[in-house]
Amino acid sequence: MTKIKKLWKHFSDIKKLGYTANLLHWDMQTYMPEGSNEGRSELLALIEEISHNKLISKKTKDLIKNAEKVKDLDLIDSTMLREAKRDYEKAVKVPTELVVKISRAQTIGHKAWVKSREKRDFSIFLPHLEKMIKLKEEYADKLDLGETRYDTLLDDYEPGVSSKWIADVFDDLKSELIKILDKLMSSSDKPDQSILKENYNPSKQWDFGLEVIKKFNFDFKHGRQDKAVHPFTTSLSSTDTRITTRISEDFLSPALFGTIHECGHALYDMGFMKEIHNTILANGASMGIHESQSRMYENFIGRGKEFWDYWYPTLQKYFPENLKDYQKDEFYRSINTVIPSLIRVEADEVTYSLHIILRFELERQIFEGEVDPKELPDLWNAKSEELLTVLPPNDSLGLLQDVHWSEGYFGYFPTYALGNLYCAQIYEDALEKHPNLPEQYSKGEFSTILEYLRENVHQYGRIYQPRELIQKISGKELDAKYFVKYLKDKFYPIYGV
Ligand code: ZN
Repeated sequence: MTKIKKLWKHFSDIKKLGYTANLLHWDMQTYMPEGSNEGRSELLALIEEISHNKLISKKTKDLIKNAEKVKDLDLIDSTMLREAKRDYEKAVKVPTELVVKISRAQTIGHKAWVKSREKRDFSIFLPHLEKMIKLKEEYADKLDLGETRYDTLLDDYEPGVSSKWIADVFDDLKSELIKILDKLMSSSDKPDQSILKENYNPSKQWDFGLEVIKKFNFDFKHGRQDKAVHPFTTSLSSTDTRITTRISEDFLSPALFGTIHECGHALYDMGFMKEIHNTILANGASMGIHESQSRMYENFIGRGKEFWDYWYPTLQKYFPENLKDYQKDEFYRSINTVIPSLIRVEADEVTYSLHIILRFELERQIFEGEVDPKELPDLWNAKSEELLTVLPPNDSLGLLQDVHWSEGYFGYFPTYALGNLYCAQIYEDALEKHPNLPEQYSKGEFSTILEYLRENVHQYGRIYQPRELIQKISGKELDAKYFVKYLKDKFYPIYGV
């Protein structure tokens, strides 16, 4: 075996241990009986330990050293070497002791967060949050990958971007979003969501969702859908991708748009080129790029007018008692209602990124030492009023709403909004090359968009980092203007402004 092949094999074995852990997780969140929790955690911890030891071993170090001696590597080999080195260095720079400390703090912090949220009392969570911030500062200092600690934390989710770069993009976005929101709220003819909040038969919701993702070309020979409390997508190998959905009996949106969203993630994972199957390159380019794919399907396609030209008659047949006399245009407006609200996960396309900017700005301040965690509720509330015009009546509806900080996932939030921006810039290019995409949707044809995404995004997996990928596709750096234009073109007519 050549030096490079040996390195491929070693890291593919680590990847396969990861798939095994994914299977255990998937089962845990879908079918596992409650009482199996403890046994399952032991299995997961064992896999994690084997995988970590393999990664930090002397063998890994030697294999990388040998591979580095090989000259004239092609794109795929050289990227694999780059990513192998990256994974290895990140793993060895952080002492096992610190990893254990963080993991323990996650478990305890999560419990405290749940209680704190239930009791609407931030003081229960505060000491755990302070501890987690300290641990993450230590973690960032050990890794030291960017100019600031927060830059290092971002690297876990969005490789190759800095907080300064994100802030520049978000600053443009912020002022535009506030203007758009202001204008929409001045409309005297706003859509409303009441039609969506009626009783919809759960098994029919399930069936309709499956029909839709079949048309999107979700490959049921290499994947399946099941139910889960918190929907997610996971891969058990490069030829087995699982999605999950959650059905609400009195609200049509969660299952419908959730299924489409997860399908967008799955199509990415199902589309890596064969050469990188089951290797460390069989991953999304970043969390943000992954999110761009799910949001393209959910929002740009699934909440689009032409999509419903095709699907609305079918939906009416599924739910005649709700929709028989309800007009398609009104339905389109109702699924695109914009309301400034307190809760991120319920937010619409316009306000969603404002929720993220709020979190990003606070996280950045925290890790630049500008904020005492005690002040966070006040800062959160002030920002919520400034950006979203709403003031949380208590901390459970404010800074305690998300799980991320209790688990130490600082730097994760920005990827959600970056996903929107990547999505708009990629979609602009897709439309330029295939101007009749919307027309195709209205006829129930969704193969051209998938082929476009396969060719330009999916096949590469982790070969290109997010900024490179966007540059490669659009010839430009990421720019918020594409997303801003998309929002204006879509929502101004809906709101008649
Ligand atoms: Zn997602």
